[in-house]
This record gives sequence, C-alpha cells and structure tokens, in this order.
Amino acid sequence: MFRNIKGQDQVVQLLTTQINNDRVAQAYLFHGSDGVGKFITALYFGMGLNCLSSNEFRPCGVCSSCRKFLAFEHTDFSYLFPSVRLDLSLDGEIKNADGLKQYEAFIRNKIENPWLDFSWDGSTEIRKESVLMLSKRLEMSSMEARYRIVIIEDAEQMNNTTANAFLKKLEEPPSQTVIILITERLSMLLPTIISRCQQVYFKPLSPATIETILSDNFDVESAIARTAARIAGSNLKQAIRIAHDSSSQIRDLAFSLAELAFRKDELSFYNLLTKQRDFLNAGKTQELIKYLCILVNDLALLPSNPDLITNVDRMEQITQLAGSGSDLTEQARNFLIYSEDLNRKITGNVNLSLILIGLFHALTDCLHP
Ligand SMILES: [Zn+2]
Repeated sequence: MFRNIKGQDQVVQLLTTQINNDRVAQAYLFHGSDGVGKFITALYFGMGLNCLSSNEFRPCGVCSSCRKFLAFEHTDFSYLFPSVRLDLSLDGEIKNADGLKQYEAFIRNKIENPWLDFSWDGSTEIRKESVLMLSKRLEMSSMEARYRIVIIEDAEQMNNTTANAFLKKLEEPPSQTVIILITERLSMLLPTIISRCQQVYFKPLSPATIETILSDNFDVESAIARTAARIAGSNLKQAIRIAHDSSSQIRDLAFSLAELAFRKDELSFYNLLTKQRDFLNAGKTQELIKYLCILVNDLALLPSNPDLITNVDRMEQITQLAGSGSDLTEQARNFLIYSEDLNRKITGNVNLSLILIGLFHALTDCLHP
C-alpha cells in the first residue's frame, strides 16, 4: 500500500526498511507542510508494523489487522488530534454529547474524505484529558498487536501543561509502542519533545506529482488536473478540493471575464459582478485571480510554446482571446505582477468589488497591446 504514497520515496524507503528489519524508533516526528501525505504515511507505517502478511506486502491493507487500522477500530491504535471538549473518561468514553457527535463526524470524514479538512464547531486543541487517557491505555499490559501505535496529529496544538504531561510518556516509553507525532509547525513544539523523536521530513510535492495523483487516483481529467496542481502549489489536499468542487465554476468565470475584457464590454462586466457578488468571497476571488494568471500565461505562451499551455481543453477560446497573435509576453508579465499585488491585498475587510474592477481593467489592458 506504500505504493499509493507518491512523491515521498525517501520517507517510504526509510520506513519500509525499518518495518522489514523490525528495527523502529520509539517516537517519530513527521514534519512538512500541509497536504504532503504525513498522516496517511503514519497510518500505513503503523499498519505495516502490525500487518499479518509477509514482508514484501506489508502493509497489505486486507488482513484483519490492516482492516481494523483502516477503520480506526484497532484496540492498539490510539489517535489524538485537536478537538473540542469531549469530557473523556479515563476509559475513553466521551461524555459530552455534542463533543461525541462532532468526534464521530471527524473520524467519518477522516476515513471517507481525508483530503477535506474537518471544521469543528468550537475552539480546538489536543486536550489534557486525551493525553491522560492515552497514558492509561499505554500502561495496560495486554495487547493484541505486535506494536501499539499512537498517532498525534497537529502535535503543536498542546498547551504547555498538556505537552509536559505527554513528555513524561515520551521519557519513559512503554515497550512495543511507536509514537508518531505529526506537525506542520516544527518550531512550535517543545525542544524537549523534538529531541526525543526521530525526525522524518516530508518534502513538498511537485505539481507534476500532484497532477499524476489527481489523474490516476481521482479520475480528474488532465486539463483540470494540471490547472489544479498549479494553483494548489504543493498541497495535495487543496488540489483535490479544487479539482472536485467549485473550481470549474471559477475557471468558467475567469474565461467569461477574459472574454468581456477582450470585447471591452464594461456594461456586461458590471452585470456579471452584481450577479457574482454573493458567490465570490475572499478565498474564491484569490482562486479566480490564480485562474486568470494561468489563462493570461497561456495567451503569452500560445505563439511560441503551445505545448506548455495549461488550459489544453480550451484551445479554441485561448486562440480567440489571443486575437491578432501579437506577442503578449510583456503584457502578461505586467498582469502577473499586478495580480500578485492584488492577491496580497485580499485580507480582512478589503472591498472585493474594487479588487475585481481593478482586475478587469488590468485584463483589458493586457489583451489590447
Ligand atoms: Zn495487512
């Protein structure tokens, strides 16, 4: 199943060797930016250490142990993450009814749509009650697995008291237990915690890797996959979201804006702006700007480098927008600089309509050299 993890060959190789040689550290710290595969790798590592199949297939994903891990039901698998207040008993019973409902929804989401970040209703942190329950679990001697696996996601989200309670566990780790901490913000962890873990760095995914994952694993058509990969940077979760949901709508909007700018049709632009006012929040406006930049870049590429074009499925429109075929390289560069500047301004209480009007004028200038 490690084959499913793309773009992290070094990490996979390191962990596979450790599984095969049965030589593991007691604590790991998986760090790297969001959406590069830290959690799924941690889960597969835990599965691999306990998988019942022969070495070359571990983790197999189908033996009884693997299946329990994949369903988050293995009794020797503890998973801690920032949550709202749960009122946990030491036996792990959740007494807060609302907390229980949200907790179950979180786990369901993690299994069914792991690339969708769950939004909790209420403030979240890794709570001391969770760490105390974990301590109690780790003290129990009976276990069914070869290794007890503990995964702590967003490990930096423990306050100091909780982190110190956890540190005690890390200082005297129970035998046959592997603790995997996951974080995007290494600098926010206590140095005493960092120093007790083997660090494993997850590097950013390349747009090409993201494009391949979207096409192969999510059946995303190639033009959308390529656009989503470029927009999302190295964040796979974001790329999957963009490829699946509102993105095609925003991409269509980018093309509509470009067409209106090409025709210098201000009246229709203002009508469009009124219609889209409720749809375009700050996040979507930023996404729209990214689509426009890719589109403008495509127009500049058309005369000399047509194979590098991203919107390959819209060649007809691209050719139309490029108009007389004059060289748009310099206009495109100016537009990109201008949009980058606008993008930075989209924070807090900025007037989005003004941003969009500015964008439309810049686009009109760009298309009429
Ligand atoms: Zn297995």
